Amino acid sequence: MAKLLEGKPIAQGLKESLKYQVQCLNIKPVLASIQVGENAGAVSYVKSQRQAAENLGIVYQMYKLADEITKEELVSFIQELNSDTSVHGIIIQMPLPSRIDYKSLSQFILPEKDAEGIHPVNIGKILFGQSKVLPCTPAAVMELLKETGIDLYGKEVVVVGHSEIVGKPLALLLLDKFATVTICHIGTSQAGKLEEHVRQAEVLIVAVGKAGLIKGEWIKDSAVVIDVGINRIGDKIVGDVEFEEAAKRASWITPVPGGVGPLTVVMLMRNVVEAAKL
Ligand code: NDP
Repeated sequence: MAKLLEGKPIAQGLKESLKYQVQCLNIKPVLASIQVGENAGAVSYVKSQRQAAENLGIVYQMYKLADEITKEELVSFIQELNSDTSVHGIIIQMPLPSRIDYKSLSQFILPEKDAEGIHPVNIGKILFGQSKVLPCTPAAVMELLKETGIDLYGKEVVVVGHSEIVGKPLALLLLDKFATVTICHIGTSQAGKLEEHVRQAEVLIVAVGKAGLIKGEWIKDSAVVIDVGINRIGDKIVGDVEFEEAAKRASWITPVPGGVGPLTVVMLMRNVVEAAKL
């Protein structure tokens, strides 16, 4: 039976360290959070970000912008925050109105203030092993892997999902540890090859957003399983992996909720602290 790989205890340790780092700075780091419209989807994220920030001594500045704001106005607001030297990190809350493309917005935040680590420059630096700020979810996954004590060198690691903010940057971070990385995506599934790849995985990381996509019986004996997926089924939240069955085979498995989630917000704060140090 797998050991539970829970995010909260790891997050706690990292928070202690960040709190100390903030105390050692002679300024209070400031995170500016931009929300467009009455965004119900962002409410719980904003609440947990504010709480995490304030507990660490980071100032959380909330900017609620009108629902009808144009992309140009939003960009100009971001640029104001870019030139405000009292602001160290900027985050744009999702979801945005459908007429505003989030991907094209991330490039307008100064790379030095990119709290989410998703600016093309910061993503590009990962390729060269030089990035100081990492995208939050991939960074959270790397912290979880560290906790298992697994040596990734030469391991068969399968990442399911190839989004710009999770799967792709994560694959680069894993390559940096000399893992043998396979990235699966919709094409892999449509070619009927997902099961074959998952069965090979000594470490499996799934970030898709489809409940039950990964069958428990596909999990290799003693594999480490990290389930990033978040799916609402009625009043329950589940991941992408069939948990019960997978837990019988894996050596470690993240619960959903309670695995990756609690660490993601800490990684956001770590980026803000790094930005403040600069
Ligand atoms: P995206 O929707 O951007 O990406 C999903 C990825 O899954 C895409 O690469 C997509 O490929 C791929 N995909 C879709 N269907 C299949 C399939 N049948 N088989 C294999 N691959 C498939 O989502 P994100 O990367 O932003 O997030 C992924 C999941 O992780 C979501 O559930 C999200 O809620 C969760 N999440 C959790 C976080 C946390 O803190 N716990 C943080 C961030 C995300 P293609 O684009 O080619 O269709």
